[in-house]
Amino acid sequence: MKKEKVRFPQNGLDSSEIHAQIEKKKAGDAKWNTGKMFGFVYHPGDEVGDTLKNVYLKYFYENGLNPSLFPSVRNMENETVAMVSDLLHGDEQVVGNITSGGTESILMVVKVAREKASRDYPQIKYPEIVLPVSAHPAFEKAAYYLGIKTIHVATGEDYRVDMEGIRKAISKNTILLVGSAPCFPYGVIDPIEELGKLALEHEIPFHVDACLGGLMLPFVEKLGYPIPPFDFRIPGVTSISADLHKYGYAAKGASVILYRNSKLRKLQYYVFTDWPGGIFASTAMLGTKSCGPIATAWSVIKMLGIKGYLEMADEVMKTTKRLQEGINAIDGLHVTGTPDMSIFSFTSDYSNIFLIGDEMKTKGWHMDMLQFPDSLHLTVTRTNIPVVDEFLKDLEEAAQKTRKLSWNKITTKLTVSATGRLSKALPEKTFQKIASASAKIAEHDKSGKPSRMAAIYGISGTLEKRENVHELVLNLLDQMYTPD
Ligand SMILES: *Cc1c(COP(=O)(O)O)cnc(C)c1O
Repeated sequence: MKKEKVRFPQNGLDSSEIHAQIEKKKAGDAKWNTGKMFGFVYHPGDEVGDTLKNVYLKYFYENGLNPSLFPSVRNMENETVAMVSDLLHGDEQVVGNITSGGTESILMVVKVAREKASRDYPQIKYPEIVLPVSAHPAFEKAAYYLGIKTIHVATGEDYRVDMEGIRKAISKNTILLVGSAPCFPYGVIDPIEELGKLALEHEIPFHVDACLGGLMLPFVEKLGYPIPPFDFRIPGVTSISADLHKYGYAAKGASVILYRNSKLRKLQYYVFTDWPGGIFASTAMLGTKSCGPIATAWSVIKMLGIKGYLEMADEVMKTTKRLQEGINAIDGLHVTGTPDMSIFSFTSDYSNIFLIGDEMKTKGWHMDMLQFPDSLHLTVTRTNIPVVDEFLKDLEEAAQKTRKLSWNKITTKLTVSATGRLSKALPEKTFQKIASASAKIAEHDKSGKPSRMAAIYGISGTLEKRENVHELVLNLLDQMYTPD
């Protein structure tokens, strides 16, 4: 089928036509407020949410690039950073900024570590970051952008990073140590206290990635759940990232990056004095910067306070526990490790877990798929509170149904469904190329195991070489960002 080229429009549309077209486009989007989706959207409820929308609109046109033109934005950024620092036990020395998200915060941390090493240890030619395999890919991305090597350390039986592995991985080239509070895949907190000690011993910066936990764990701890200290109470911690647009409930585009002192933070800033356009200075990656997310971050903290966040954390944690107990009570299913917060994954003893995920999908549920081990992942938020019983009932049925299928049937069913899904997502030519490439590679699989093909993860399971998966995903992205 020949595609029509998308043209820059000759004449404009009126407001009602724009609205109609947007509504039509949006019809295919995930219905996040039904509770059947886990993660991605963090909704503080309509009352708070509506106020935040109004606040956002007040800053629709302002530009955060110039702090002297819009002092209110700078003021809200400073106050938000100070409030989050207070929550995470920072003293008066602790400083920070708001960035566009966890990825930007982490990119800055890695840059700061590189700058610091190049000043303090100029003999390091090939700098390295030591991090758990469970750490967020944003570190990988930052390291890739900045030309730094990553040294991955496996997790132990409890899915927290293995300290012996960390000790072995630290070398004279290490410029940064990383721990998560908690990590995304298993929702467990790495041994932050021990990592902090090691960082002090070796005099290396130590970043705690609390993108997920920064605005949740302090409240979970106050509620009486056992949460080990993970923040500036640990002496070796030099920086912490905490996303405001996750459990902070701000609009998307807001994360806090905190440093132990301003000497470290200065290494984050960028200044160029020789431009004919004037002296240029920016705190982080972005130039022109949206102010709406900053304004909503400040407002939501002011609106909820510790009391409001505690109530939300309490509801979310109770929902999480009910989900975990319900999942563990289903024959063959169990939660991975002992998650510390409201994110976790689960696996199956009997069926291919992705097949259960597929079954759940037909009933409208969306869960993330994880690998090593194959599992389904839940980020529990307030929207999921009313649907726990329905979810567990559907999950039990899905588990029973998939248990009855033989391996052979499962393989066929999975292959058919994944193939169908991929072929829908891709233009026919690309799909055929990918399908034949993956079939060729699958033929080389000598283990004799049935080939599993649940979407990308399934295909990646049958591909022995990760480079092939890399290529496949690159092609997929390339196609996805080409007009339909
Ligand atoms: C979400 C997340 C990040 C990355 O943050 P973005 O806001 O998606 O850029 C980093 N670390 C953890 C643990 C996260 O959950």
